[in-house]
Amino acid sequence: MAQIQEGTTPLAVFEEVVEDSYTTFNQVRGWKERLGRKALGYFPVYFPEEMAHALNMLPVNLLGASGRLPLDIATAHTQSFVCSITKSVFQLASQNLLEPFEALIFSNICDVARNLSGIMMRNFKERHHIDYIHYPINNSSENAVDYLEAEYMRVVKGLEQVSGVGLDDGRLREAIRLFNRKRQLLKTLLEIRRESPWLLPYHEYYTAVRAAEFMPVEEFLKMGEGLVQEVLSRDLRPADRVRVVVVGNFCEQPPVMFMKTIEDAGCYIVWDEALIGPRWVGEVNPDAGNPVRALAEAYVKNPQPLTVRYHPSVDKHKHMLEVIKRTKAEGVVFITPKFCEPALYDYIIYKHSLDREGIPYLHLEYEESTSSFEHVRTMVETFAESIMFD
Ligand code: SF4
Repeated sequence: MAQIQEGTTPLAVFEEVVEDSYTTFNQVRGWKERLGRKALGYFPVYFPEEMAHALNMLPVNLLGASGRLPLDIATAHTQSFVCSITKSVFQLASQNLLEPFEALIFSNICDVARNLSGIMMRNFKERHHIDYIHYPINNSSENAVDYLEAEYMRVVKGLEQVSGVGLDDGRLREAIRLFNRKRQLLKTLLEIRRESPWLLPYHEYYTAVRAAEFMPVEEFLKMGEGLVQEVLSRDLRPADRVRVVVVGNFCEQPPVMFMKTIEDAGCYIVWDEALIGPRWVGEVNPDAGNPVRALAEAYVKNPQPLTVRYHPSVDKHKHMLEVIKRTKAEGVVFITPKFCEPALYDYIIYKHSLDREGIPYLHLEYEESTSSFEHVRTMVETFAESIMFD
């Protein structure tokens, strides 16, 4: 269960949390019981977790079963050309494996996710409170913040019925402070990857950031701060590897072995989009006059691009070149989930900038259930060698 034992390392705790996060959710049951909270599962890419926390709920990112379940029921309910995370979340619900979650929240990140929320509501509304956040499409409109604040309040009203707790400004400010700390910690882990990737192998980094999407925030902060100290005290030397940026894994998650293979084939992943939503929103002002509005502003006015949010003033070409410069990356590996249109649109946009600047890139495709990695190894080795010996 989720109780942290004396002497247990942060990584061991994170590994246990991640293993439980695919299909069993026993840790979620344990946290609910111990902390007296209800659980809210949200579909990626972004949800203001602070709101759930302030309503005494445990926000958990629904990342699918990562290839641990046959998708037979979901396949019968969905088209054949949809990504595997949507099928996987539907399959989990069909087998009642999402039973610990009193509430499930979806949003308009893409047509597939929008349709998923519809079939979830039609099939499982007796088991869970299911709602849908319609994020603004035109984020440059002067009404976008007003609109999103009202949309958040509509969702909050429904969640208040589930949790039995009313939203209180003081509790929400406190939650924003806690989640600012979580975002800062995620940023620190990413900075370690950027500055000294040999100290924190990617699969360890990923285990920590994935656990952050399941654990109560207070426990993640304690364990995560311990991990940073432990990693910085490691006495390890860099290997001769190519520094790469990985783009495309912002929603459906590739198998951990897929990413490990990229590193083992001669790369250091110095930046990527894995679980970018929770860190993307950045620092939210906890002392703003209206904390719900502060969360709406943090989404609408964020100058950083997020694949599933359109903002006309965000220059994606410039962004990608800045990431490459900041991380001193020598190449880009695009990894796109099969049938994911948003990831493929980004690939086309970024590819043009890279071609113009002569920056090498590689494109790979994955599914949750991808289990053979030999072709990944061969392609990445060839890519890395072409950069090293250029
Ligand atoms: S993986 Fe892509 S297509 Fe599937 S739900 Fe996520 S954003 Fe939409």
